[in-house]
Order: sequence, then C-alpha cells, then structure tokens
Amino acid sequence: MQDKLGRRIDYLRVSVTDRCNLRCFYCMPEDGVPLVDRGRILTLEEFARLIEAATTAGVRRVRFTGGEPLLRKGLPGLIRTVAGLRADLDIALTTNGVLLAGMAGELKAAGLARVNISLDTLRPERYAAITRGGDLDRVWRGIEAALAEGLAPVKINTVLVRGVNDDEVEDLARLTLDRALHVRFIELMPIRFAAGWAPDRLVTAAVIREKLAGWGDWEPAHPPAGGGPARYFRLPGAQGTVGFIPALSDHFCGSCNRLRLTATGALRPCLYHAAETDVRELVRGGASIAELADVIRIAAAGKPSGHRLDGGWRDQRSMSQLGG
Ligand code: SAM
Ligand code: SF4
Repeated sequence: MQDKLGRRIDYLRVSVTDRCNLRCFYCMPEDGVPLVDRGRILTLEEFARLIEAATTAGVRRVRFTGGEPLLRKGLPGLIRTVAGLRADLDIALTTNGVLLAGMAGELKAAGLARVNISLDTLRPERYAAITRGGDLDRVWRGIEAALAEGLAPVKINTVLVRGVNDDEVEDLARLTLDRALHVRFIELMPIRFAAGWAPDRLVTAAVIREKLAGWGDWEPAHPPAGGGPARYFRLPGAQGTVGFIPALSDHFCGSCNRLRLTATGALRPCLYHAAETDVRELVRGGASIAELADVIRIAAAGKPSGHRLDGGWRDQRSMSQLGG
C-alpha cells in the first residue's frame, strides 16, 4: 500500500486490549482508565479477519500491543491464526513483560517472531514506583525467557523522564554489552495523562546521546530486525545495540509505514491524529475480506502527513487505549 505522499504502508499495530496489569505514571492514573465495555472490544475472530484483510491489502508486519496484550485470553491462538495467513508475515509483540516468563514458549510456538519489552529502570523500588506496584524480578524472568526461546531480537523500550530515571542511561546501555539486548530510548510523548507535564520532563535523544558519548567508542550499527524508526549504535564488542527513537525532537513521520487498529476497532493511520475509520461495525456486519481490505487501503491512502503532538490538538485517549 502507498499513501498519497508515496509512503509505503506495510505495518499494522494491533491493540488487543485496553486493560493493563501495571499503572505506569506517564501512561495512566493510579486507578487506571475507565475500561470500555467488553462488547465494544473486538473478538479474536474479528481481529483475525481484519488482520487477514490487512495482509490482503499489503501489510507484511503485525505487532500486537495494548494495554497489556498478554492479558488478552487466547492471544497465542490469534497469533497462530495470523501466522498461518502468510509465510512471510513478521509477527511481533510489545509487552511490559510481567506475564512473559510463563508464556514465551507458547508464543514462540504459535509463530511470534520477537518481542519488545518495556522497561524504564533497573532498580526494583524505582520500577515499583514508576509502574505503581510492578515487580522488576518478573520482568527480568520474562526477558530471560524471551532470550532463551529465541524471540529475537529482544528489544527493551525505555522512556526516560527527567528527574525520574535519566540517571540510568549508562546502566541501561550497559545491558547491551554481554547480552543480545537492544535498548531503545523513546522520547516521552505529551499524550493524555502526560500531556500537561511531559514537555518539561522530556529527555531528548540528543541529550541521551551526549550522556553516552563520553562513555565509549560508539559505532553506528545495523538496525536489528524489525526496521522501525530508531537509529542504532553499538559499543565495540557489544552483543546488543542502543537505539534512539526521537518521536518529538526529530520526528520520522516522513518515513512512517504504520497503521494502527485499536481494541475497539478504530483504524488509525497515525498514532496521534484525529483521522480514524471505525471498522468494527463493518466486520460485525459481515463485510468480506475484500471489502475490509478496500477500507484499509483507503485509510492508508489518507494517512496524515504528520502527528499532532505539537500541542494544537489533544486526544482524549491514553497511550494504553491507542495501542502504544
Ligand atoms: N503494556 C505494554 C507495554 O508497556 O509494553 C504495551 C502498551 S504500552 C502503551 C506501549 C509503550 O508505550 C510502552 O513502551 C510505554 O512505555 C509507551 N508509552 C506509554 N505512554 C507513553 C508516553 N506518554 N510517551 C512515550 N511512550 C509512552
Ligand atoms: Fe500498562 Fe504499558 Fe501503559 Fe505501562 S505503558 S501502564 S504497562 S499499557
């Protein structure tokens, strides 16, 4: 698929639930976000049909996210169905890792290729504070399980917040030395609950690179499989890499290849833009794969040129509802 700006669109991010077992302070309030009625959430069969339609339209990469996707019952079965659609489909998952240790083997067997695990700190008390109750040990077991099962490349997604965890840049980067872990620093975005304060706490990719520059002879590295918008560097002899995702300071909308499907069936060609198409009623109404594929092609063609994170417009949905 191509949009009107000539961007090739071949990547679909699918949020399979709005529920989460953590409460990261920049993503949602302590008591969570109001959950939508289960009846408004797509069933596994509806997800499978829409993903099939997306592959018919040209999608070759699918990433499951949420909310916390591992909370969605039947996810391994959905992955198995999706893996059976095309041999060349790249299937990935973004998770907080809490439930991963017990599921990594099953997910791999179902056809999942790789995982991104969100981890903002290596300090147990700080992890509990940032996530409001999370147990860092469980995430580590999840990371070990992902490595052991070959859900590779294993990427670690880190959001730095000034004054909260920006003193851990080096410790996090050090993870890449002995293990095939790819640590990516993602700029904090002023979305929903972080909208008011995020700009003041943003740690830009440039600042992080500067912090790391004096610490070793970084060399540009090939991106690990998955080829997203990050730029990667490696320390000599390191098994993994460090990547930067400058979503705000140097945004990559010009090369964005994504579409998103929310858990309630909204097809969004851009994470942060009002443009969206409701596909839930279509799939519930019995639309054929060809009809759904046409709707997906039209949504992709109209992909906005760039996000609206500059403050001119505010989405009422949180990152967990949009499918970060
Ligand atoms: N629960 C899963 C997880 O945490 O990996 C998947 C969904 S979560 C919304 C996806 C990613 O969005 C996480 O890596 C999280 O750190 C990131 N995120 C949430 N709010 C963000 C914000 N305001 N700015 C940047 N990243 C954010
Ligand atoms: Fe849950 Fe992920 Fe949001 Fe943290 S970032 S609260 S784990 S959805």
